[in-house]
Order: sequence, then structure tokens, then C-alpha cells
Amino acid sequence: MKFTELGLGESLLKAVKEQGYTEPTPIQAQAIPVVIEGRDVLAAAQTGTGKTAGFTLPLLERLSETNPHMKKKQIRVLVLTPTRELAAQVADSIATYGKYMSYKSMVIFGGVGINPQFAAIKKGVDIVIATPGRLLDIASQDGIDFSAVETLVLDEADRMLDMGFIHDIKKLMAMMPKKKQTLLFSATFSREIKTLASGLLKDPVLVEVARENSTAGKISQVVYPVDKSRKRELLAQLIKANDWKQVLVFTRTKHGANKVCKQLEEYSGIKAAAIHGNKSQGARTKALADFKAGNVQVLVATDIAARGIDIDQLPHVVNFELPNVPEDYVHRIGRTGRAGMAGEAVSLVCIDEHELLRAIEKFTKSSIKKVDLEAFKPDPSIGAEPIQNGRGGGKRGGGQRNGNRNANANGSRSNSRNNSRNKKPSKNKPENNKPDNDKTPVEKKKKPRNPHAEKIGSNLQAKLDKLDKKSNNNNRRK
Ligand code: AMP
Repeated sequence: MKFTELGLGESLLKAVKEQGYTEPTPIQAQAIPVVIEGRDVLAAAQTGTGKTAGFTLPLLERLSETNPHMKKKQIRVLVLTPTRELAAQVADSIATYGKYMSYKSMVIFGGVGINPQFAAIKKGVDIVIATPGRLLDIASQDGIDFSAVETLVLDEADRMLDMGFIHDIKKLMAMMPKKKQTLLFSATFSREIKTLASGLLKDPVLVEVARENSTAGKISQVVYPVDKSRKRELLAQLIKANDWKQVLVFTRTKHGANKVCKQLEEYSGIKAAAIHGNKSQGARTKALADFKAGNVQVLVATDIAARGIDIDQLPHVVNFELPNVPEDYVHRIGRTGRAGMAGEAVSLVCIDEHELLRAIEKFTKSSIKKVDLEAFKPDPSIGAEPIQNGRGGGKRGGGQRNGNRNANANGSRSNSRNNSRNKKPSKNKPENNKPDNDKTPVEKKKKPRNPHAEKIGSNLQAKLDKLDKKSNNNNRRK
């Protein structure tokens, strides 16, 4: 399949060529023609598959085909993403592929001033890429008019729901015109995603691709058992002994990310930067740019902040702490081994995390290789302690917008009340020890009965079930 066979115009083909892409990825080959046709799409795809170009290219093509008269504050395309980083990356892709076209696009997310965003929309934009919280803020102040929306894209829909955006999304959806094209991208297909999809999509075309590296098994995974207090030392040794030039390190909390970063710099002279929800957008962008440019060797990130980071050929991912939710392990290691390159995912696992490791192995249906390092042999006299500061920590409603992803040390889900039993009071500032949800917590609302549950058409239900099965199989293969 060639790009020229997909129905894209000359200016887009020129921009694609400049990127050095020789042929479309499977998701692009499947999605581009049907999106240009105007069909709804339900796509099972993660980052790393080329999905961003899979929807931005045909959307730009569609925009170029008509030129309606837009009123003040109206927009034509809305892309919703879970994080600011992903929003910025989608905007970059649009700028890259649309460089020979004339259109206006902008990003809308929190953490930066809202007034310039009001002003920019007022002038008129074709494409808005936004995180749901800030967009709703603007919409509820009458700052944007959705009545001319032609296409709506929900990117990484599963992640948006995990982050508790469902209420914001529902409110936004209620403001959209009924007649529009909708594209929904998700790596996993929970009941909530199915409900959302059933309410939004009309006779969607199903697009499904496995991550290149999930089937090819290009990511090598290894676990180093180590005492909690010696993880920093082991991390520094691994980086130095193996001469790792670019390492993405994951911690569970914002405080943990800051601490690892500081310790690497102070004790080992390794240049590191942290990105998480407490950092300003400017600080995050700078950290990412420094890391990409090689000025910083180690980027320490929380799961939420790292979501969507796209760094070509990232060779090493380290789980300084295992995530509480097994799916996050899969997302984390998916940061490496992209585009067919080999990648290495290393996990430093202390005795407290053995249950989490078991849950990850169960979820991925694989046994991860364990390597005992003589110099870092865990002290057998140290017993397991409950994991602190995992998801479910914090105030109000478990400190998160959605109880869905609460997990205890067994990796199983529990409600926040159960989880709070494990918590010990922390000496550190409580807000820094909370999991990085990147959002202000809100009161947990009583879950409404699913209004769409009975409405799911058998056709769409069958499609969703198929995707569900497929995404589970893909996870198992990883
Ligand atoms: P995404 O899944 O959208 O996050 O894209 C992952 C990476 O693949 C990005 O760095 C893109 O620049 C790159 N990419 C997208 N499409 C292609 C293509 N057809 N050929 C080669 N690389 C691509």
C-alpha cells in the first residue's frame, strides 16, 4: 500500500514525504480512506502505531475539501486527549502534516492562562485539540461554540476515562451537534468504553492493529530484585555500567519522581529531570525537550505525565517502582521498542512489590525474567510492608476523579475506602505523595445507572466484543 493510494491531496503527500515515511502503517492504511469518506471509526490502537497521522491526515484532507463560512467561536474539528503532552503532540503532528495547507489550529489545556485561549477561539479556529477539563471550563463560560463541529476525535479514550474525565466528556458531548463524524481510539475496551462508544458512534468502521512491538516481542523485560532503600544506587549503577544515554524512569508518585531525580544528580552526577502533574507546563515542555536533545540523560516521570510521550527510539525504560495497575506496566514499557527498534524494560522490584509483579505477570500472561545481582541481593530479614502512596491515596473520593483504577498491593481493584486502610500517615507533604492524577480531585459522585446499557445495538456490541477480545490477546502476547 502506498500513501498515494489513500485519497490524500498533494500538499499532504508532500508533507508526509518530507517526514521520510515510505509507506502507511497498518492503522493508517485502514483508517485514512474511511475517515476521508466521512465514516465513524472505532479503533483499537496504542501510541507507537502511527495512529496520530492515521486521523490527522484524513481530517486535514476533509478540511481542505470544503470551506464553510465560520461564525465567531465556532470550530470544525475537536480532538480530545487525556493529557497536555498528548494534546501538544497531536498539535505538532497537525502542524507537520498540514504545513502546506491553510487552516488554523490551537491547543487548549490547563496549567496555562485561560484568557489567551478565549481570545484565540474568538478569532476563529478550524481545529481544537484539548483536554476535557479546561475545554469544559471555556465552554461553560460561553467561550466556544460547538454547533459547527464536523468531526470529533476521542484519542486514548480509555485513558481519559481512567483519569476520571467521563463526566466532563458527557457534558461536552451534550453540547455537540448530533450530526457529526466521530472517531474513537482506545487501547483497551472496558465496559465504560463500550458504553461511551455505543452512545457516540454510528455504524463505525472497525480498525484494529497490534502494536508492532507487541507481537514482534522486541522489548526485552527484566526484573532485578532489590531492597527499596538500594534502588537509587542500583539505578545509578545500571545507567553508568551500561552507558545508558537516554532512560525514562517511572515512579508511582510526584514526590517519588522529584526524589529520584534529585538523588541521581546529587549522589551520582547523572543529569535528570522530572515531569509530573505538579510541574508547570513550561517546566514539563523544557524537561522533555532537554531529554529529547540529550542534555538530560534521565527523565523521571509519573504514569500520567508520561502518557503519550513520543520519543523515537527510546531504548530504556526503568520501573523504579512497579505501577499499582497492571495495565500501566504495559503502557510504560510501550514507551520503548518503537517502530521496530529493540528496547529494554527494567523493573527494580522490592519485597513490597511481589504481589504487584505477580499481578502484572498474570495480566500479561508471561513470566518476566528475574536476574539476581550479587551486590544487590535483598536482605532476607526485611519483610514486606504495605505500599504507600499508591493510587487511592489522597483526600476526597480517594484523591482521584475515578475509583475505577484503584488497586491494592495485590494489583486487584478495590474502592477507595478499602484502600485507605493500608495507608500510613506520611511525613512528607501530602499533596506530593498522592498519585499523579494531573487533575484536581473532585467529590466522587454516585455512579449513575448506565443509560446506554440497554441501547447498545447488537451489531456494535459484537464489534466491541471483538475488539475487547483482540486487545486482551495483544496484551497477553506482550
Ligand atoms: P503515534 O502512534 O501516532 O504516536 O506515532 C508513532 C511514531 O511513528 C511517530 O514518531 C510518528 O512520527 C511515526 N510515524 C507515523 N507514521 C509513520 C509512517 N507511515 N512511517 C514511519 N513512521 C511513522
